[in-house]
Amino acid sequence: MSRKKIIRTIDVPPKFIKFGVFDNENNAKEFEYLNIDEYEAIRLVDYENLNHNNASKIMNISRPTLTRILNSARRKIAEFLINGTNLIIINNDAKFLKNWYGCCDCKYFWIVKYNEKQEFCPKCNSKNIKNGLDCLNKLSNIKF
Ligand SMILES: [Zn+2]
Repeated sequence: MSRKKIIRTIDVPPKFIKFGVFDNENNAKEFEYLNIDEYEAIRLVDYENLNHNNASKIMNISRPTLTRILNSARRKIAEFLINGTNLIIINNDAKFLKNWYGCCDCKYFWIVKYNEKQEFCPKCNSKNIKNGLDCLNKLSNIKF
C-alpha cells in the first residue's frame, strides 16, 4: 500500500544551508542532512516558540508527525554539536509560501510572496537582484 506524499509548507527558504566546524583540523568528513521540514519545525517551535498544535497547522501536518520531525531534527543538530559533523539543509519537496530576494549592489534583502516576480531593488532600483540565497552566496565569495 503506497502512502500519498504530503507536501509540507515552509514559510521562507532558509538563509543559510551549509554549516561546518571551525576547530577541527581533520575537516569533518561526516555529513548530517537536515531536511527542510526539520528546519521549519525547529524554526517554528524552538525559534518562534509556537506550540506543537499551531506549528503543525502552519506546516500542514499532524501533531504526531510534527513531533517525529522535531525529534529527528534535534537528534541531527545534537550530532552536529557533539560530534562535529557538517550540517547541510536539503529540500525534500517542500512548498514555500514566500521567497526572499537580495540586491547584489546595496546588499538589501527583502521578502515577497512566492510567485511575485521582482525586477528592481526597492531600495536602490538596481536590476542586479537575485534569489536571496544566490545573492548571499555571491556576496560571501567576494575576495578583499
Ligand atoms: Zn539595492
